Amino acid sequence: MAIRQDDNRPNRRFGLVNLLLIGFGVLLLFSNFLPNPATQVPRVPYSLFIDQVNGDNVKRAYITQDQIRYELTKPPEEGAPTVLSTTPIFDMELPQRLEQHGVEFAAAPPKRPSFLTTALSWVVPPLIFILVLQFFARRSGMGGGAQGALSFTKSKAKVYVPDEESRVTFADVAGVDEAKTELTEIVDFLKTPQRYTEIGARIPKGVLLVGPPGTGKTLLSKAVAGEASVPFFIISGSEFVELFVGAGAARVRDLFEEAKKKAPCIIFIDELDAIGKSRSGSMGVVGGNDEREQTLNQLLTEMDGFTAQDKPVIVLAATNQPETLDAALLRPGRFDRQVLVDRPDLSGRKMILDIYAKKVKLADGVDLDKIAQATSGFAGADLANLVNEAALLAARVYRTKVEQADLNEAIERVVAGLEKKSRVLQPDEKKVVAYHEVGHAIVGHLMPGGSKVAKISIVPRGMAALGYTLQLPTEERFLNSKEDLEGQITTLLGGRSAEEVVFGEVTTGAANDLQRATDIAEQMIGTYGMSETLGPLAYDKQSGSRFLGGNSNPRRAVSDATALEIDKEVRGLVDRAHDRALAILNHNRDLLEAISHKILEKEVIEGDELKQLLASSRLPETPVLEGAVA
Ligand code: ADP
Ligand code: MG
Ligand code: ZN
Repeated sequence: MAIRQDDNRPNRRFGLVNLLLIGFGVLLLFSNFLPNPATQVPRVPYSLFIDQVNGDNVKRAYITQDQIRYELTKPPEEGAPTVLSTTPIFDMELPQRLEQHGVEFAAAPPKRPSFLTTALSWVVPPLIFILVLQFFARRSGMGGGAQGALSFTKSKAKVYVPDEESRVTFADVAGVDEAKTELTEIVDFLKTPQRYTEIGARIPKGVLLVGPPGTGKTLLSKAVAGEASVPFFIISGSEFVELFVGAGAARVRDLFEEAKKKAPCIIFIDELDAIGKSRSGSMGVVGGNDEREQTLNQLLTEMDGFTAQDKPVIVLAATNQPETLDAALLRPGRFDRQVLVDRPDLSGRKMILDIYAKKVKLADGVDLDKIAQATSGFAGADLANLVNEAALLAARVYRTKVEQADLNEAIERVVAGLEKKSRVLQPDEKKVVAYHEVGHAIVGHLMPGGSKVAKISIVPRGMAALGYTLQLPTEERFLNSKEDLEGQITTLLGGRSAEEVVFGEVTTGAANDLQRATDIAEQMIGTYGMSETLGPLAYDKQSGSRFLGGNSNPRRAVSDATALEIDKEVRGLVDRAHDRALAILNHNRDLLEAISHKILEKEVIEGDELKQLLASSRLPETPVLEGAVA
């Protein structure tokens, strides 16, 4: 793809202005220091001058504001200078005195500033101001380096116009088939919008790519542009956020202005979370948020604004923290489509390895399947990096082809680098994770309310989750019944319970589950008044103030007895959910084993296969919990 950065011109103009400015400045400086002939005249004390006037020794005097130059009738001694100067003192009697002693005197005409000085005094200060602004703009525009002062409001988007040879297509992306299928539809929207608009369908405006870093989100969106052969504006969310309040919003405006001119086209906002962070979740930072909020509002306004259906502008955005996004972004008409771009599974890794292996010279008999098996948890970027490392290793020892050993060593290198960022599991850890996740899945499947389990994966995902049971970011649910919430707690405890059932002990892997389960239980009692003994009272104080911490709800003033009761109720809720999860898993022990073995083989189970497997799960006959109240 050809990169064209649009904002070169304003820059060059600014270079010229700078040069002129510096020239003026230098001139001004030097005009002050230019040798002044007046200074050659010897300077004497004022009192001496008065003496000399009184002694009738002064022939004539020339008085200016800052100097009196005078000529002696006769010098005090032979060869001494006859012209002297002195600094005037505010002396009202001087003219009288000079007249008395017959001195011929004159005053200089009032000084009129030269045209140059006037011009400079008008031009220089504003220019200095602009220079300072420019300095700040540069500093805050990190990376975007060469921005001019007057281009604050210019979006820094780079425009890619796909050209034939460097075009990225879907063929360059592997292992993310679901995402590709979804995005193929987007390509269709861009290519033949009429087909959809004629029937009256509304073309989606925003598509959100969600997934861990390095899984190919940026690559995929370039592929969409490449496949559709439309211009592609790429900008990172962080580039909107500026030192100056309002600059981000102006940039969003500018970006959409440009995009509309080039429609149909794609705007790609990388790292959307930089501007799209939930407004309520980020309380506590005093000030500082205004800028981001304005930028976000502007983005929402612009997305709501364009309605030209025959020339669609589709906004793609990527984030690896979907849970932090503002709910307003996910509403219909905005980023209402979410596409999961996940770490690739075994077959996906093989396909990605194939793509990158073609770019290096491989020795005969290299088994990429083995490499794919050994790289569980690697994202596409890691695999690309792996092949490159292997090639470097081979070249270091002057081999002309990459061998299996190089690839194996490269795995170790990449793993070492990854271990800090994400986790690569040992086999026994993997087993624990498998049972844990299947525990969540079985319990989650049997619980009412909560969203159904769509995917189980033991492909590690960053530090926090070693495996996961999938939920795409969904719109907020506004109402949850008591039963739903109890189900959620039970599901969260399903992972730990499975570990207990199978291994008889627990690991640290459930920490986050417990945190969330306890939070829900506390809210049920304290916020939603769902306790029978404590009644419909809100024991948590909802803090309306923006400046109090985000989710810390201090308790209302309650008696010690009530506090004790609250703690007991919360504890009771979680305990009952735990018992329930244990009962369910014991009852479905065979299924737990079966699915766990399967997932240890395949790493990911999803879709219909998962549905079928979970369909044979059963609730134990004696429910631990009774019915619920809405
Ligand atoms: P993200 O935007 O999700 O963080 P990128 O798209 O920037 O990831 O990926 C970085 C690089 O890793 C890409 O340029 C590509 O070389 C490689 N890569 C990542 N995922 C894939 C994939 N699924 N298929 C092929 N290459 C990939
Ligand atoms: Mg990216
Ligand atoms: Zn868990």
